[in-house]
Amino acid sequence: AALTLAGCSSRDAGTPSSSSSGDAAGFAKDSLIGVALPAKTSENWVLAGDLFTNGLKEAGFKGDVQYAGASSPVQDQQNQIQSMVTKGAKVIIIGAADGSQLGPQVKAAKDAGVTVIAYDRLILNTEDVDYYVAYDNFKVGELQGQALLDGMKAKKAEGPYNIELFSGSSDDANSAVFFDGAMKVLQPKIDDGTLKVVSGQTDIKQTATAGWKAENAQNRMDTLLAANYAGTELDGVLSPNDTLARAIIASVKAAGKQLPIVTGQDSEVESVKSIMAGEQYSTINKDTRNLVKQSIEMVKELQEGKKVTTNNDKDYDNGKKIVPAYLLPPVIVTKANAAEAYANDPTLAPLTK
Ligand code: BGC
Repeated sequence: AALTLAGCSSRDAGTPSSSSSGDAAGFAKDSLIGVALPAKTSENWVLAGDLFTNGLKEAGFKGDVQYAGASSPVQDQQNQIQSMVTKGAKVIIIGAADGSQLGPQVKAAKDAGVTVIAYDRLILNTEDVDYYVAYDNFKVGELQGQALLDGMKAKKAEGPYNIELFSGSSDDANSAVFFDGAMKVLQPKIDDGTLKVVSGQTDIKQTATAGWKAENAQNRMDTLLAANYAGTELDGVLSPNDTLARAIIASVKAAGKQLPIVTGQDSEVESVKSIMAGEQYSTINKDTRNLVKQSIEMVKELQEGKKVTTNNDKDYDNGKKIVPAYLLPPVIVTKANAAEAYANDPTLAPLTK
């Protein structure tokens, strides 16, 4: 319910404000800062680890950056957070492996006087999270929904359009928010008959992709195609991220069907190449460099005993409290604006030439 609440309002990041949840009066500059990241389910997490390691070091902190493993991510992360508390971390930044399984660990952190920052994914059902820093997830979903419509329209002026819907892993609090944002755009078009979800699978329980795993999306797409698309054209697929988009495209190719419009997120290298080659239709630019930078800014403010800057103190209800958030704006990218969108990204810019 909390997430629906966060997802429903059309959020405007607004003017940065400062908020404080009773932070202590700063701490020593060379203090330990823990960063607990989930398994490497997409490129953004791989980038984040390196950026945190280097960024914290440059800022003079002692960073401890840990990833959850792929086989038991939740338990790994619980242990890692516990150990960061034991080692005396002053701030712990968490990209949750499972946003609803960290209650005891963040409580232990708060009890030890640690400031807890949720990074990219909200931590749910606990009062023991101080801040949230992320790209605007609801906006990501809206942009994906709109891109799906725009892409299909550019290919075929008139509907109805046959589509299928995919969402992310249900243990990630973002998944429902992305989906709600997209459905805000798509549902009215489903209702008026412009869009037809041929499989009838529109519930997030049916569309979810466990563990954000490519093979799960690919299997589901295989099944959907076999059951619903013999002799029927598939015009578009809502995919919540790039890893899943490429799996969906692989499935469609294997079935020998014409490629539909497929959305994505994360600006992964292989997907940017696919977009430039005219296969995947869109992605989202959520530059990881800026998100990590903003998180380290928060750490610096805490270190100096200043109030932490946030720009949304009303929408992120985690079920137990409204978590003050700093949201960054996501950008939709298609072949048409890729060069401009990645102009200052040394890895991606050359791919758009
Ligand atoms: C992130 C996405 C990413 C997904 C899978 C989400 O929480 O916001 O950027 O694609 O996790 O790793």
